[in-house]
Amino acid sequence: MPIKVLAREVISKIAAGEVVERPVSVVKELVENSLDAGASQITVEAQGGGVNLIRVTDNGSGIPANEVELVFHRYATSKIDTLADLERISTLGFRGEALPSIAAVAEVEIITQAASDVVGTYLHLRNGTIVSKEKRSRPRGTTVTMHHLFRHFPARLKFLKSPITENSHIANLLSQYALAFPEVKFSLSLDGRLTLHTPGNGNLRDVVAQVHGLEVAQQMLEIDGADQVPSITGLVSPASLARSSRGYLSFFVNRRWVRSSLLVRATEDAYQGLLITGKHPIVSLNVSLPPQEVDVNVHPTKTEVKFRNNQTVYASVEKSLKKALVKAPLPRVTTATPPPTSPPSLWTLKSNEMTSLPILRVMGQLASSYIMAEGPEGLYLIDQHAAHERILFEKILAQRSQQKVEIQGLLEPITIELSPKQEEILKTKGEFLSQFGVSLEPFGSRSYLLRAVPAIIKEGNLAEAVMTLLDSLTSDEGILSQEERIAQSLACHSAIKAGDSLTTDEMRELMKQLEQTAQPRTCPHGRPTMIHLSSRQLEKEFGRTG
Ligand code: ADP
Ligand code: MG
Repeated sequence: MPIKVLAREVISKIAAGEVVERPVSVVKELVENSLDAGASQITVEAQGGGVNLIRVTDNGSGIPANEVELVFHRYATSKIDTLADLERISTLGFRGEALPSIAAVAEVEIITQAASDVVGTYLHLRNGTIVSKEKRSRPRGTTVTMHHLFRHFPARLKFLKSPITENSHIANLLSQYALAFPEVKFSLSLDGRLTLHTPGNGNLRDVVAQVHGLEVAQQMLEIDGADQVPSITGLVSPASLARSSRGYLSFFVNRRWVRSSLLVRATEDAYQGLLITGKHPIVSLNVSLPPQEVDVNVHPTKTEVKFRNNQTVYASVEKSLKKALVKAPLPRVTTATPPPTSPPSLWTLKSNEMTSLPILRVMGQLASSYIMAEGPEGLYLIDQHAAHERILFEKILAQRSQQKVEIQGLLEPITIELSPKQEEILKTKGEFLSQFGVSLEPFGSRSYLLRAVPAIIKEGNLAEAVMTLLDSLTSDEGILSQEERIAQSLACHSAIKAGDSLTTDEMRELMKQLEQTAQPRTCPHGRPTMIHLSSRQLEKEFGRTG
C-alpha cells in the first residue's frame, strides 16, 4: 500500500483506543472531569460491568451552553492554553481527549448547566456525531451518560473480562479517588447496588473506614511529612496490620492516582524488616510537589508520572513513613528464612521430569524450613511450606469435587469489614465460596459475619484468610482457575510455615502425604517443592570422579 495520511475517522478511533481501554477508563475520565470542575458531590452508576451503561453526575461548574458542542472536539480543553501551561499542570485532565474518545466508542448523552446560564444543554451523540440537541434545565453541574461501550468494536468487547471483574475495577477506582479527595462526597452503585458511599467531610480516616473497614481505619498511622520536600501526607498501616497483596498500596501525586514503582519501592524499603516476606502494608499516600517538578504527560491515561528528581521523592517518602512507623507499637518478632548457604549452581532442579517420588528417608530439618532427606539418587531438600501447600491444595479440590468439604462452624461469629472491591466479589461469588465452606452473612454496611470456615483452616487469623481469599479472586491473571485459586489461597494460609519446627514424625507424615499427591514436585504456583543433589554431583563436587 502506498504511504498516505490516515482518514480523520481512523485516526480518532486509534486515539480513542489509547484513552478508553475498558469500562473503568470511561469512569476514570468522567470522574476526573467532575473533580476538575470543582464538584463536591460525585455519583457514579454502572450497569453490566460498565459495558451497558456508565453515568457520572456532579455538582461542579457545569459547561456554558455555547461551549458544550466543543467539548466533543479532539484537543478541546479549558484547562491549558499555552505550551508553558503543559509544564505546570494542576488539573487532572489537560489533553482534551476524553469526551471525544468516549463518544468515538460508545453512545453518549450529556446534560449540563453552568451557573451563568438560565437554562442548561442536552446533547446526544452517536458515533461521535450529535443526533439531538435541546435546552434542558437542571441544577448547576453535569451528567454524562454512556451507553453500549464498544458496541461496534467486537474485537475490543471480546477482550473485556467478566462483568464481575470490570465492576471490581470500577469499585477500586472509585475507592482510590475517594481516598485522594476526602472532601468530596462519592457514591457508587453497581447494577443498582450501593457499593461505596463516602461522607465528603475531608477526613481521610473516614474514607479509609468506608474502603477498608473501621478496624483498619482505627489502626492506621498518620504520616506527618507535610514539612518535607516534597510533602508527604496520608495514612499507613502499622507493621502488625498487613495484607497478602500489593493491592492495598495507593499512591497519589498532587492527588492524581498513579502507578509508580518508585513509590512502591520507597514504601517497601520503609517497612524493611518489619513485615514477613510476602506481606504488604495498607497505604494511602499523597506526594505533593510543585507541578513543574513532575511530568504527567507520559501516557494518554495519565496514570504514569516522571519526577524531575527521583532521589528526593524517594527519600522524602521513605523518611516520612519511617517516622510514622517508629511511633507504632512494636511488631511481632518474625522468623526470617535464611537463604541457602550453598551456591545455587550446586543444585539440580528436577521438578517436572518425573512426577512420582522415590522413597525418601527423613534425616532432619534445616533452618526450621526445609526437610533434609536421603533417597536412592542422593540428597533431597524439601521446602516444608510448599510441600504442605501442595498436599492441602489437592485435598481441598478433592473434597470439593466429591462434595465432602469439611466445614467448621464458629461458636462466635467473626465480624469482617470488606472493601467495595471485596464486597463485589463476595456478592457474585458468595455461593461459590460456600461450596468451599466459607459462610459470610451480611451484617450492616459492608460488614459481614463469618459463621463458618473450611475445617482445613485450623488456626491463624480467619478474617485475614477470608480477605486474602476474596482478593485472590479479583484478578483474571495467572494460570489457575477460580476453583484452584480458592484452593491455593486456603492451602497457603493453612500450610505449615517456614520457621515452624517439626518433629521427625511430623516430617515423615508430611513426606508420606506428599508422595500420595498427583504432582508432588511443584507447589500450586508451579514452584518446586524440592531440590535434588544427585550422588553423582556430590562426587563431582568433592573431586571423586574424573
Ligand atoms: P480535558 O479534561 O483533558 O480538558 P475532556 O475531553 O475530558 O478533556 O473534557 C473537555 C472539556 O470539557 C474540559 O476541559 C472541560 O472544560 C469540559 N468538561 C468536561 N466534563 C466536565 C464536567 N463534568 N464539568 C464541567 N466541565 C466539564
Ligand atoms: Mg478530562
